[in-house]
Amino acid sequence: MDTRMTKLEDILGSPIILSRDKQTRIYGLNSKGREIDISAYTESESRKGYFHKVEIEYLPGSLHLVNGNCTCESFHYFGMPCKHMLKVRNVYIKNKKKLD
Ligand SMILES: [Zn+2]
Repeated sequence: MDTRMTKLEDILGSPIILSRDKQTRIYGLNSKGREIDISAYTESESRKGYFHKVEIEYLPGSLHLVNGNCTCESFHYFGMPCKHMLKVRNVYIKNKKKLD
Protein backbone atom coordinates (compact mmCIF):
# COMPACT_ATOMS: atom_id res chain seq x y z
CA MET A 1 0.00 0.00 0.00
CA ASP A 2 1.02 3.53 -0.83
CA THR A 3 1.76 5.81 2.11
CA ARG A 4 3.41 8.57 0.13
CA MET A 5 2.17 12.11 0.40
CA THR A 6 1.39 14.39 -2.52
CA LYS A 7 2.57 17.96 -2.88
CA LEU A 8 -0.11 20.55 -3.57
CA GLU A 9 1.42 21.48 -6.92
CA ASP A 10 1.23 17.86 -8.06
CA ILE A 11 -2.54 17.70 -7.56
CA LEU A 12 -4.16 18.41 -10.92
CA GLY A 13 -7.39 20.29 -11.50
CA SER A 14 -9.44 22.45 -9.23
CA PRO A 15 -11.44 21.05 -6.33
CA ILE A 16 -15.24 20.73 -6.36
CA ILE A 17 -15.18 21.56 -2.66
CA LEU A 18 -12.41 23.41 -0.86
CA SER A 19 -12.67 23.59 2.92
CA ARG A 20 -12.52 27.01 4.53
CA ASP A 21 -9.10 26.26 6.02
CA LYS A 22 -8.01 25.04 2.55
CA GLN A 23 -6.65 21.83 4.09
CA THR A 24 -9.27 19.56 2.55
CA ARG A 25 -9.89 19.47 -1.18
CA ILE A 26 -12.59 17.27 -2.69
CA TYR A 27 -12.02 16.41 -6.35
CA GLY A 28 -14.47 13.62 -7.05
CA LEU A 29 -18.09 12.93 -6.12
CA ASN A 30 -19.88 9.93 -7.61
CA SER A 31 -23.27 8.60 -6.63
CA LYS A 32 -23.44 4.83 -6.48
CA GLY A 33 -26.96 3.80 -5.55
CA ARG A 34 -27.56 5.32 -2.13
CA GLU A 35 -23.88 5.72 -1.45
CA ILE A 36 -21.56 8.41 -2.59
CA ASP A 37 -17.91 7.93 -3.49
CA ILE A 38 -15.76 10.86 -2.49
CA SER A 39 -12.14 11.33 -3.47
CA ALA A 40 -10.13 14.07 -1.87
CA TYR A 41 -6.79 15.28 -0.60
CA THR A 42 -6.27 16.54 2.92
CA GLU A 43 -3.18 18.29 4.22
CA SER A 44 -0.84 16.54 6.62
CA GLU A 45 -0.72 18.15 10.05
CA SER A 46 2.93 17.29 10.53
CA ARG A 47 4.14 18.16 7.03
CA LYS A 48 2.62 21.37 5.71
CA GLY A 49 2.18 21.50 1.96
CA TYR A 50 1.89 17.72 1.70
CA PHE A 51 -1.43 15.97 1.24
CA HIS A 52 -2.85 12.51 1.94
CA LYS A 53 -5.06 11.02 -0.72
CA VAL A 54 -8.36 9.96 0.80
CA GLU A 55 -11.17 7.92 -0.74
CA ILE A 56 -14.38 7.26 1.13
CA GLU A 57 -17.72 5.63 0.45
CA TYR A 58 -20.28 7.43 2.47
CA LEU A 59 -23.99 6.84 3.08
CA PRO A 60 -25.75 10.23 3.19
CA GLY A 61 -28.16 10.59 6.06
CA SER A 62 -25.98 8.50 8.32
CA LEU A 63 -22.58 9.29 9.73
CA HIS A 64 -21.23 5.94 8.65
CA LEU A 65 -18.36 5.41 6.31
CA VAL A 66 -19.09 2.31 4.28
CA ASN A 67 -15.55 1.94 3.09
CA GLY A 68 -12.45 4.02 2.71
CA ASN A 69 -8.79 4.33 1.98
CA CYS A 70 -6.12 6.82 3.01
CA THR A 71 -2.42 7.10 2.32
CA CYS A 72 -1.54 7.99 5.93
CA GLU A 73 0.48 5.77 8.25
CA SER A 74 -2.36 5.48 10.75
CA PHE A 75 -4.72 3.88 8.24
CA HIS A 76 -1.94 1.75 6.86
CA TYR A 77 -1.12 0.49 10.35
CA PHE A 78 -4.53 0.17 12.02
CA GLY A 79 -6.83 -0.27 9.00
CA MET A 80 -9.47 1.77 10.82
CA PRO A 81 -11.12 4.98 9.58
CA CYS A 82 -8.54 7.70 10.24
CA LYS A 83 -8.97 11.38 11.05
CA HIS A 84 -8.45 12.28 7.39
CA MET A 85 -11.43 10.20 6.28
CA LEU A 86 -13.60 11.78 8.97
CA LYS A 87 -12.38 15.23 7.96
CA VAL A 88 -13.29 14.63 4.32
CA ARG A 89 -16.72 13.36 5.34
CA ASN A 90 -17.28 16.42 7.55
CA VAL A 91 -16.20 18.85 4.85
CA TYR A 92 -18.55 17.13 2.42
CA ILE A 93 -21.49 17.34 4.86
CA LYS A 94 -20.77 21.00 5.58
CA ASN A 95 -20.65 21.97 1.90
CA LYS A 96 -23.29 19.63 0.50
CA LYS A 97 -26.06 22.26 0.56
CA LYS A 98 -24.05 24.59 -1.66
CA LEU A 99 -23.84 21.88 -4.35
CA ASP A 100 -27.57 21.07 -4.49
ZN1 LIG B 1 -5.50 9.09 7.02
